[in-house]
Amino acid sequence: MRIDFHKWEDYRGCPKKFALRHIKREPYPVPDNDYPKLYGKTVEKFFELYCNIWRFKTPYIFPDVIRERLEKIYEGILQHSTINWSRGNHTKEEIFEQVVADTCAIMDSPNQNYFLNTKSEISIDMTIKGGHVINGRLDFLHYPPMSEDFIIMDGKGASKMGKHVDKDQLLFYALLCFFQYKRLPLDLGFFYYRYNTFAPIQISSDIMNEFRARLSLDIKKMTEPIEHGATPSAKACQYCNYLSKCPEGLLAKAQRARKSKIEIEGDGMVEFGF
Ligand code: SF4
Repeated sequence: MRIDFHKWEDYRGCPKKFALRHIKREPYPVPDNDYPKLYGKTVEKFFELYCNIWRFKTPYIFPDVIRERLEKIYEGILQHSTINWSRGNHTKEEIFEQVVADTCAIMDSPNQNYFLNTKSEISIDMTIKGGHVINGRLDFLHYPPMSEDFIIMDGKGASKMGKHVDKDQLLFYALLCFFQYKRLPLDLGFFYYRYNTFAPIQISSDIMNEFRARLSLDIKKMTEPIEHGATPSAKACQYCNYLSKCPEGLLAKAQRARKSKIEIEGDGMVEFGF
């Protein structure tokens, strides 16, 4: 089995979801909505091309050229996406303007340095016992000037810092780098595009050892030929694309809704939710 961070993330959320998606490869009952990913994908693609191609020719790019390049990237992404615009708060044009403003702000600030001397979309494979492969696709690997060290960065389009991010993702990449380069990164963190901010996380041998133990244990269970049962929870089921056809998830949702009662003085108990 080829195991990347997102497969592991699915397994930790709910083993049944992991099995449906990655072992049985069941199609989603309702198509995925790419709306929430539009902003992040567009900015990320710009910096991928900047790191791997454009910076060698012109490290500084004028704002009107940035806009032009983003326009092409955005159109390409829209063509290959399924978007339910009614589920979002912003129009196609509003998202694009935000992308342009934030990209120009990064490119016009000292943080542009994080994308200089940097490689993007680096794939690392590590073969483990049993022939399974752990794979990581790192957004950015930055090499500070005059140094042998490297910094791992994962780009995030999140609208709130710390929201929808998982430190384990960075530790997963750090572990792969350790096996590939035989050393830990100097630093690792999330780069929040909307905030033009690099937010590092803590790393040490103890943290990595604890992380490696957790990951090994889960990989052992993920690769066993057993029935992976459901572990429904509000967090796991909320964004699960299989919810509409999952009896365990639907039952748990109904039970949670039944518990959501509000008491109004004098009127007794009022059912709230389902
Ligand atoms: S709906 Fe919930 S219980 Fe069902 S597969 Fe998805 S995460 Fe698991």
